[in-house]
Amino acid sequence: MSADCIFCKIVDGTIPAKKIHEDGEIVAFHDVNPQAPVHALIIPRRHIESLNDASAGDGALLGRMLLAGRELADRLGISAGYRIVVNSGASAGQSVFHLHVHLLGGRLMRWPPG
Ligand code: 5GP
Ligand code: ZN
Repeated sequence: MSADCIFCKIVDGTIPAKKIHEDGEIVAFHDVNPQAPVHALIIPRRHIESLNDASAGDGALLGRMLLAGRELADRLGISAGYRIVVNSGASAGQSVFHLHVHLLGGRLMRWPPG
């Protein structure tokens, strides 16, 4: 837990969120400012600042986050087309420095992203 981290506060319930999955390692919830009809965030309970701060020992956790994204895509009805994004670093658009996977879907998406 990092004292000033908004996502740590969502994990411990200090800040409310529309949670859609919780297990021993992972929490998922709807993004407060959705960029698509479905926009969820999947985060580890443990505070890891970014993908750059994950270690080889976090491999299983990272895999579980991806699989949680796939399962949520299925559950939320977007499994035919969805995007999983991990913004890493401010210049790539990371604004919350607690590792998170974005799950986006429900609209046409173009490539490359801006
Ligand atoms: P980033 O820009 O770091 O990749 O993504 C951070 C995401 O967290 C943004 O999409 C933003 O809308 C979302 N977010 C920021 N604060 C909150 C919050 O308090 N609650 C929820 N549910 N989402 C948040
Ligand atoms: Zn945190």
